[in-house]
Amino acid sequence: MNYLLQRRQALVQNLKKTAAEAFLVTNPVNVTYLTNFTGDSSFYFGGAKNSIVISDTRFEEQIKEECAGLDAHIRNHNKTTYEAAAEVLNKAGVKSVAVEEDGLTLGELEQLKALAPKVTFVPVGGAVERQRTVKDPAEIDRIRDAVRVAERAFRMFIATVRESDSEKEMVDSLEAYIRRAGAKGSSFPPIVAVGERGALPHAPPTAKVLGDGTKLLIDWGADMLYKSDMTRTLKSPFGTSPTRRNKFERVGIKFDEVYDIVLQAQNAALAAIRPGVKAKDVDAAARKVFASSKLKDATDLKLADHFTHGLGHGIGLEVHEAPRVRANSEDVLEAGMVITIEPGIYIPGWGGVRIEDDVLVTPGGPSLLTNLSRESSSLEG
Ligand code: ZN
Ligand code: ZN
Repeated sequence: MNYLLQRRQALVQNLKKTAAEAFLVTNPVNVTYLTNFTGDSSFYFGGAKNSIVISDTRFEEQIKEECAGLDAHIRNHNKTTYEAAAEVLNKAGVKSVAVEEDGLTLGELEQLKALAPKVTFVPVGGAVERQRTVKDPAEIDRIRDAVRVAERAFRMFIATVRESDSEKEMVDSLEAYIRRAGAKGSSFPPIVAVGERGALPHAPPTAKVLGDGTKLLIDWGADMLYKSDMTRTLKSPFGTSPTRRNKFERVGIKFDEVYDIVLQAQNAALAAIRPGVKAKDVDAAARKVFASSKLKDATDLKLADHFTHGLGHGIGLEVHEAPRVRANSEDVLEAGMVITIEPGIYIPGWGGVRIEDDVLVTPGGPSLLTNLSRESSSLEG
């Protein structure tokens, strides 16, 4: 099955919803999606009669390797990509061309208009992005690879982490393991947060060492062209002696209790996933668990107020893409979508617990792509 060809054919079908004859795709991620070309400064021009990569001499060989069978219009260095695109449009003789609202600046659009004065440009929003929400089997395989590589890196990281390692050093070693496990690199800068720093959902790494806290939150992913994105929060055997233990961590909130509630919220969200369900209803399923749960030693703490972000997001060529899984989302789940489910509880001064997994929506419900245990665990194993 030639999935790239299918994607380009689906784009031609989508074009019927616009008043345009062909599509000039300028967003580099969308160009990759439609052509498999992974370089930059290149466009894709597609329609019922045309299917051309517009690029330059630096990428000529790469295009032959990555885009076998696809026509290429190669400019040399004295022309801009816009001049090359205009040459293609003028030669094709098309009267109207869809362009991506989010893929061109106003200045770039003006340049195109001046270079191709007979063409009417029709701005279109999010057409390829919507197509990208439902993954084909080739894409799902690549996301599975990105998950597997990230998990291998995580196991190597956990096996070698030391009490004296700072957050910064742990981020560095985790990134090295992600590359060693086979990825191009991290899909985003990993978050490694010790102790109460886990209360910051996007904690930047500091000099704080593992031994300074009793828990460790790790949010990481691998870039295999397609991305993975997961989070685990572990109890740490370090930092438990009264002298080392952070003063904030003496408050009577128990890790296992918080962890169990976050896991229940994640399970409730997973149980709500199936094609046809609104993404916001999956978010609500997790929030309902927080609204109805209480901590034994901090009964006045309203846990729902401590889940301060959306439940999840689509992943694919980008680590954050459509659909959005949050209270204000209008997206509806479809089979083939791949989303994260990442509930968390963040308590300033104490820390945070987040569990994030990558999930494929199938006709029968959710299918977890991640294999790491979701049960509460300790760094000691
Ligand atoms: Zn994440
Ligand atoms: Zn995420």
